[in-house]
Amino acid sequence: MGKTTGFLEYERVDGPVRPEEERTRDFLEFHDRLPLPEQRKQAARCMDCGIPFCQAGAMISGMMSGCPLHNLVPEVNDLVYRGRMAEAYRRLSITHSFPEFTSRVCPALCEAACTCGLHDAPVSTKENEKAVIEYAYEHGLVTEEVPAVRTGKKVAVVGSGPSGLAAAQLLNRRGHAVTVYERRDRVGGLLRYGIPNMKLDKSLIDRRIRLMEEAGVTFVVNANVGKDISAAELKEKFDAIVLCCGASNPRDIKAPGRDAKGIRFAVDFLSEVTKRLLDSALVEFPYDLAKDKDVIIIGGGDTGNDCVGSCIRLGAKSVTQLEMMPCPAEQRLPSNPWPEWPRVLKVDYGQEEAIWKAGHDPRIYQTTVKEFVKDEEGNLKEVVVVSLSPKRDEKTGRMNMVPVEGTERVLPAQLVLIAAGFLGSEKYVTDDFAVELDGRTNVKTAPGAHASSEAKIYTAGDMHSGQSLVVRAIADGRAAAKEVDLALMGYTNL
Ligand SMILES: Cc1cc2nc3c(=O)[nH]c(=O)nc-3n(C[C@H](O)[C@H](O)[C@H](O)COP(=O)(O)OP(=O)(O)OC[C@H]3O[C@@H](n4cnc5c(N)ncnc54)[C@H](O)[C@@H]3O)c2cc1C
Ligand code: SF4
Repeated sequence: MGKTTGFLEYERVDGPVRPEEERTRDFLEFHDRLPLPEQRKQAARCMDCGIPFCQAGAMISGMMSGCPLHNLVPEVNDLVYRGRMAEAYRRLSITHSFPEFTSRVCPALCEAACTCGLHDAPVSTKENEKAVIEYAYEHGLVTEEVPAVRTGKKVAVVGSGPSGLAAAQLLNRRGHAVTVYERRDRVGGLLRYGIPNMKLDKSLIDRRIRLMEEAGVTFVVNANVGKDISAAELKEKFDAIVLCCGASNPRDIKAPGRDAKGIRFAVDFLSEVTKRLLDSALVEFPYDLAKDKDVIIIGGGDTGNDCVGSCIRLGAKSVTQLEMMPCPAEQRLPSNPWPEWPRVLKVDYGQEEAIWKAGHDPRIYQTTVKEFVKDEEGNLKEVVVVSLSPKRDEKTGRMNMVPVEGTERVLPAQLVLIAAGFLGSEKYVTDDFAVELDGRTNVKTAPGAHASSEAKIYTAGDMHSGQSLVVRAIADGRAAAKEVDLALMGYTNL
């Protein structure tokens, strides 16, 4: 619970952030840590609030409130406040597989539900988590348990994103022989080839993978299950298979001129940027992808923001983000009370950088693309955009965003990045495994369960729930591991 009067004595202070001018010249992380004595004061702000919504991980009004992993937030904060960092690490490890990832990329659902945050700034739980895990690495405390006894059971995990890694970690700890198959050349899923390096340095994934390999997990890369390796082959070899392939089917924008050269899906773009950076040990920036281009990003969410930050680093001439929905309020509305997830305007790092560079927020709200305009060679040269306004559908009662006649205008664009969300799992994998899908093309399971319609086949992460968050993927991977273990052994102690 921290110090009883801590929240009255100390203001919230966040770790230092490198200024835009400096950080946009590289792809390195830009959030630093506070010195440990200062971080302990931040943990001291955790109050004895009685009902720690921060660790609830409950759905309220259709949105997750509090930590989906049910991290023991007040207990960890208390141990940090007391400087008992090794114990804090052990406490955090009870519920968490990879704090080094979430303490960088998590939107901190815990902080949005923090009682201290009801009237003041919330406790900086995410930065406390980073202090704990980095202390643990620096002091050699982070190990992956090598099981004393092997069960003789074999489990395949398909996909090495956070859900696959979390499932593999627990199943290996339990003594099963785990093989992770990954179709890309490096493991990590969207941690590797989605989230940019400046948000999550890729050496942190390698650091964890080395430990998992030492503990006995086998990783096979460049292995596209459903194409290079068949479902039948895996079913033959393994006692259980956990499908953790993500929701990698991007939503397209169907407008005239869509075949113009220069229109890409955001994840393909971000993935190419990271791959080329990693292939050159972060020395050669793939400037040719965006330099001197007018870039339009379709989608005002987090993926769009990552594109903004990446394009600025690659020397784009201008960056504009189009968002269909109206600009959210700056403060919580009465219809969105604490501890619900706050639907408020967020200015993320990419937008901050765009504001620093161009003097204004890159987002244009209530706007979409009506047409892509090509030159004679088929290259994209402009987009015609149109304003949208909310209109209720008489039949369904649903509010739709509809184009407003006469508001069309032309924006120069040589690169368009589509960051309009994802439509579920990829057909070739689910077809090969013959698993049933739900209405959103996620793998169908009973509510709260992970077993698919096919014997021995389980699922976790975005492939199970649709596109979500790293913390939720980790939680789902852990839950799937427990279910698999129970099925294989008749009981589980995971
Ligand atoms: C650009 C971007 C930025 C994001 N930023 C954040 C963020 O900052 N914070 C946050 O919490 N969440 C973020 N998310 C969401 C988060 O990354 C995902 O919810 C999370 O990674 C899902 O984990 P997963 O394990 O289910 O799948 P993924 O991370 O998608 O991993 C799936 C893996 O399976 C592999 N695979 C697929 N099919 C096969 C096959 N047939 N054979 C072998 N391998 C296969 C894929 O190559 C991939 O490596 C972001 C998403 C995107 C797209
Ligand atoms: S994983 Fe995310 S929600 Fe959970 S305690 Fe850490 S920062 Fe908060």
